[in-house]
Amino acid sequence: MTATAPREEQLWSRCAGCATLLYRKRLRRNLDVCPECGVHARLGAPDRVRQLVDPGTFRPLPHRPADVDPIDFVDVVPYPHRLTAARAGTGLAEAVLCGTATLGGHPAALAVMDFRFLGGSLGCAVGELITCAAERALDDRVPLILVTASGGARMQEGVLSLMQMATVSQAVAALREAGLLTVSVLTDPTYGGVAASFATNTDVVVAESGARMGFAGPRVIRQVTGRALPDGFQTADFLLRHGQVDMVVPRRALRGRLVALLAAARAARPPATRPPAPRRPAEPPTSDPVPTATGDGDPWATVRLARHPGRPTTLDYLESAFDGFVELHGDRLGGDCPAVVGGLARVDGRPVMVIGHQKGHTTAELVARNFGMASPAGHRKALRLMRLAARLGLPVVTLVDTPGADPGVGAEEQGQAAAIAENILALTVLPTPVIAVVTGEGGSGGALALAVADRVLMLEHAVYSVISPEGCAAILWPDRSAAPQAARALRLTAPDLRRLGVVDEIVPEPAGAAHVDPEATARALGDVVRDNLLPLLDVPAATLVRLRRQRFRRFGAARASLRAGAR
Ligand SMILES: [Zn+2]
Repeated sequence: MTATAPREEQLWSRCAGCATLLYRKRLRRNLDVCPECGVHARLGAPDRVRQLVDPGTFRPLPHRPADVDPIDFVDVVPYPHRLTAARAGTGLAEAVLCGTATLGGHPAALAVMDFRFLGGSLGCAVGELITCAAERALDDRVPLILVTASGGARMQEGVLSLMQMATVSQAVAALREAGLLTVSVLTDPTYGGVAASFATNTDVVVAESGARMGFAGPRVIRQVTGRALPDGFQTADFLLRHGQVDMVVPRRALRGRLVALLAAARAARPPATRPPAPRRPAEPPTSDPVPTATGDGDPWATVRLARHPGRPTTLDYLESAFDGFVELHGDRLGGDCPAVVGGLARVDGRPVMVIGHQKGHTTAELVARNFGMASPAGHRKALRLMRLAARLGLPVVTLVDTPGADPGVGAEEQGQAAAIAENILALTVLPTPVIAVVTGEGGSGGALALAVADRVLMLEHAVYSVISPEGCAAILWPDRSAAPQAARALRLTAPDLRRLGVVDEIVPEPAGAAHVDPEATARALGDVVRDNLLPLLDVPAATLVRLRRQRFRRFGAARASLRAGAR
């Protein structure tokens, strides 16, 4: 190999996916994505950096990797010879390129791995360099972006490579504690010790289209199990389906998506550094009982309105009442529940984390979304997003519309009860403002898992209940046909719940209810969320949590006020 000669750019290259012979310049213009079949060719770190950052803004970190051969490793050639060859072949000092840059004007620190360099393996120098990048992010108070491409820990450095998984994870933990966004971008391939540490323990995990990620490689798994692997095993789409990544993004959209994430995180600030909110006192208002019963309309009719398939869903509200929604997927444990959607968005220009149940308008949509009934994976996704919001100093807005949690066998096997319990617990102490809006059906524990909030709002024709009227009728009446009576007895309408103090404010719906004018409903929801959010923004986290606890403590007195209201 003529190691030091400048490499001639070849004129043609053959696509690894479809074998088409492609004009190199054309391929480059297309970001090394095959225009014929869409296969994303592997990128070296310098090319990757060029594609992601604002031109001319990348500043490499000054650190040089130390020459290490801690265990005097020799296979067919001594380890130092392999290092020398890798340096000559890539022009890089190590398997990672670290620096600072801006993306869309947002500053960030970056560590970009290069698979060409000893398979992107994680050795002591790589771990140290990524840690330096993380420390730079901490010093500058900017997000950290990790682009991974690695076969795993570097065998040639023995167990010291294994230790780097902990070293870099500590650096990620420090950024999480400081409320600074960490993002990993999984590129092909990301395996072993890199996959099992900083590739997946960041706040947001983005997979590039076509990337494969896993702990054990397919060859190892085949050898151990003796079985063929399913199609698409460990690919980006597989990872999304199994809750391992937040999103799959094609290369051409990657930079834009990272810019959107950085924009959301940059706008978020811990309460202490926020500019003071206009008007309104710092203490959130408490609810006064509604003086008179609204009384018109049979509760059973309200139940049917609340379930109307034309009512706006969470994704509809995200489209029209919020801006700039970036959906985040998965519980990182094995599932991405379609009945819960969530992600970063803005309301009235302010960044928030929105989490809501998702139903649908057609039968096919409803089936695909499991009728808005969250599985344990859905509750765990919600929990992950709540905690991410708290770390980044973002308020949480939840939109509640579920008949109840998924009543299936699988859900029980996966710990439905504990998943709901954990969310309720987390929300009671979440150190960031939480606003819940019951938009349709607020069904029992599945609803409460998103509704322990500083302010609980409810659409005029929504319902919120400990059990469905049908379920209640089946248990306490002779049969389910008594559901209308049960609906009346349960006091599940917005005015009832307002009187009980469970709900702080009723959001009026347009004439004929939400499904008649979804746009107007979304506007009303956006307005009421903004108005309720503003006074909470400057309340210190400890005060928020204390008041939230008081809010849920006072329901022992609710019976008296209901009697007073009904008199
Ligand atoms: Zn191709």
